[in-house]
Amino acid sequence: MSYQVLARKWRPKTFQEVIGQAHITRALQNAIINKKIGHAYMLVGTRGVGKTSVARLFAKAIRCEQLSADGNSCGNCAACLDFDTETSMNVIEIDGASNNSVDNIRELISNVHYLPTLGKYKVYVIDEVHMLSTNAFNALLKTLEEPPAHVVFIFATTEAQKLLGTVLSRCQRFDFRNISVTDLVAHIKEIARVEGINFQNDQLIAQIALLGRGSARDTLSLLDQVLTSSQNNMITEENLTLSLGVAGPSIIKNIIASLYEGKTQELSKDYNKLLSENVPVKNIASSLLDELFLDLKVKKDLSQAELIWIYETIAKETSWIFNSIAPEKAFEVLLYKAALRRSFFTNKIASPTSVEKSEKIITDVKTIDKTWEGFLTFLNAKSPASASNLEQGNIISPLRLDNGELSVELGFGYSGFVFFEYLSDIEVHQKVVNNLSEYFGIDQSKIHLNLKQLESHEKFVSTAEIKDQLAEISLQEKVDNFKNNPMLKEAEKMFNAKVDKVIIENKK
Ligand SMILES: [Zn+2]
Repeated sequence: MSYQVLARKWRPKTFQEVIGQAHITRALQNAIINKKIGHAYMLVGTRGVGKTSVARLFAKAIRCEQLSADGNSCGNCAACLDFDTETSMNVIEIDGASNNSVDNIRELISNVHYLPTLGKYKVYVIDEVHMLSTNAFNALLKTLEEPPAHVVFIFATTEAQKLLGTVLSRCQRFDFRNISVTDLVAHIKEIARVEGINFQNDQLIAQIALLGRGSARDTLSLLDQVLTSSQNNMITEENLTLSLGVAGPSIIKNIIASLYEGKTQELSKDYNKLLSENVPVKNIASSLLDELFLDLKVKKDLSQAELIWIYETIAKETSWIFNSIAPEKAFEVLLYKAALRRSFFTNKIASPTSVEKSEKIITDVKTIDKTWEGFLTFLNAKSPASASNLEQGNIISPLRLDNGELSVELGFGYSGFVFFEYLSDIEVHQKVVNNLSEYFGIDQSKIHLNLKQLESHEKFVSTAEIKDQLAEISLQEKVDNFKNNPMLKEAEKMFNAKVDKVIIENKK
């Protein structure tokens, strides 16, 4: 037997089987049971949330001659059998996207006045009704003004805002909800149970449900895709990455754990592993944001304020990253920024494990000055050469203050070994400690400056490299700003031309 896609195989056969739209199905069942059928219904909602399924269930039940007590069609009476033939003269289904001309609608309307060949009602289901042309709509409107008693219209649309008020006012409107992740997870589990599908872990189910973005149809077609790359109906993280180009849930959780703990090296290793598996950076970003969003509600060991800051930073900055020259690198730098947030924002440097103190860090964001970056700025004013030497390295863990003792761990990449050696010299090292002492207001004896030469295979980005990246980004922003300048736009219009190239001269 040929493979039947899950969305079709699992199309609901009763109102109760429709997922996540009980507020609508209950109302329609009541209307059927109480024989209060209107002339026109408008089903509104995004794609794949069950509009067409509900329209068909309703159309069938309206005409059924032996309704069940709960308002579902019987499936056996003459009207139900007629419905199932697909050539029914009494239930007419039209796709507004492909039959949108006035002629199509006139033809439809010319038949409206004929009584159904069987049963009480003639039902017209028009999908994507907003796609009808204005003329087609006007023709339809006339029928809606005075519909024959035997006619019921069921319209479905993803874009109700495109419909005329005169149409909407003649319809009973039902707004479909996007289906919740919880409902989608339950649905996948039920299907898996019946179809004999197994998952390496439950996180995979949650991930597929999340990727479905509130649509039952999309969720099931994702499940179809993953199944095609699986063996013996066993779905693994690898299948998910291979077939959908998304990161598996455990690696995403690892990246987030590293991000919370400021472990930039682990973070970078996992991130680059995903890139090497051809997962697009957009998909990585979106999986991370989904997971961070869930953490916002459940994560206990970081403050809410800090989680919100992380989420907002990544969400906001990804938009320019995707337009940047090197999105993979730029996103990695962004992850570094989020991971090293405490060293950017610490006013009172706190031990990163302390929840109480981390709350303070965030609430003091506005009065930041004592940070590693702040120190570099301070040093740059005092001795640019010393600052520039330190910028060839970078802190590899957040600054820590334990019992008044400040620990600074400064790493150097493979290409920065000259600077590592230079700064390791006892006198030079002591100079840096003196400067740290002056800036942070902590006695020299309580400052522990550890320099570390990283292995060539270890992933590392120096402050200088980050600066270069940021400069590249701000240049891109300048170009974008210039291109969006209203006067320039006006000029483009006037000359009917487009700006081809923007050159920003560097004054340095
Ligand atoms: Zn029936």
